[in-house]
Amino acid sequence: MSYKLKSCPFCGGKARFGQRLNLEKGCKFEIWISCTTCKASTGLLAVRAEVVRAWNRRTEETEIHD
Ligand SMILES: [Zn+2]
Repeated sequence: MSYKLKSCPFCGGKARFGQRLNLEKGCKFEIWISCTTCKASTGLLAVRAEVVRAWNRRTEETEIHD
């Protein structure tokens, strides 16, 4: 299954999936999406569909930390 990712809401860069195994939390996968240009990213989630939704929603939800 493939998902459509919007471009980065901050810089228009390309988004990509990240994935890691969290050994402290019982070897669960954590997935996130981050921008390859400015490194903006979603939080860590367990479900790919949810992380896609979180990322695609960010165009309205402006959240900038500097
Ligand atoms: Zn970006």
